[in-house]
Amino acid sequence: MVDPTSDLDEDVDESNAPACAVCGEKLIRDPDHHVVTWVADGQIEVRHFCSEDCRDEWDDSERP
Ligand SMILES: [Zn+2]
Repeated sequence: MVDPTSDLDEDVDESNAPACAVCGEKLIRDPDHHVVTWVADGQIEVRHFCSEDCRDEWDDSERP
């Protein structure tokens, strides 16, 4: 369980690291880590990306 109040870069290891939404790479203190968030149906949706390239490759179809 990730404490939402803690810094995103704290306490990240292989077991709780987010994965890139495009290529599935685990993001562990990755300096190119990109995060996109939006609200859908009252819930916060989050997508993680390992790089600008994956962010660009991801189409926005998931996001309203
Ligand atoms: Zn990626």
